[in-house]
Amino acid sequence: MAEIRDWKLDETNLGRAGQIPYEVAVLPIGATEAHNLHLPYGTDTFEVEAIARRACERAWGQGAEVLLLPTQPVSVNENTLGFPWTLSLKPTTILTILRDICSSLENHRLLKLLVLNGHGGNELKPFLRELHRETEVQMVLVNWWEVAPEGHKTIFESPGEHADEMETSLLLHLAPDLVEMDRADEGKVRAPHFTGMKEGWAWISRPWDKLTTNSGVGNPAAATAEKGEQFIERVVTKIADLIVEMANEAIDDWYPYESD
Ligand SMILES: [Zn+2]
Repeated sequence: MAEIRDWKLDETNLGRAGQIPYEVAVLPIGATEAHNLHLPYGTDTFEVEAIARRACERAWGQGAEVLLLPTQPVSVNENTLGFPWTLSLKPTTILTILRDICSSLENHRLLKLLVLNGHGGNELKPFLRELHRETEVQMVLVNWWEVAPEGHKTIFESPGEHADEMETSLLLHLAPDLVEMDRADEGKVRAPHFTGMKEGWAWISRPWDKLTTNSGVGNPAAATAEKGEQFIERVVTKIADLIVEMANEAIDDWYPYESD
């Protein structure tokens, strides 16, 4: 029987955890959406959960009193519903979830929260601004795929955007039995007519089923489990360090800056 981990809320119990003065909560946000023809619908959830688990375990080992909250498995996919079985929450629903989680944490006086986002469709900065004066909880936001850009460039040959070499490598490392490489399809991404969109300075909420033929953006062919392991290790190390820093930082008038 595996040991019960006190840093994992869905696993520990009141008898063990009731008296632990947790300093930092971590909320992973995943998604349930099509990922090319070969990766599971839970890809974003599996990725963010594994990263959060490893980072919390490491931070706990370094003395940080961290509590990993259950992963939110569905998030904003309003523009990808054109592919079968994708599930979506409205952005305002995510705001409501965040608000209520903050309210619960505030009730327990657990006032530092790391929001670990695992899905590109979630634009969460406006929500942190919205809640800034509403809650005592001090939130830090991380989109995990932005944590190690140098690794992104050096580890992968042709990184894309969705269900690509990077995500496929991660899943080959984390859940190889759920990857059907023989179904992987290079697919086609359609170019927009607007010059501003081609140049990247004009934005639309892209209708994913018009943008791509197989829901993927990026060729997964060069993916390997080793690349996935290497990349995830870089990401986990940095996030674990952040959790330790958050745990050690007292919430005073100057948080999180140096006082004068
Ligand atoms: Zn994904």
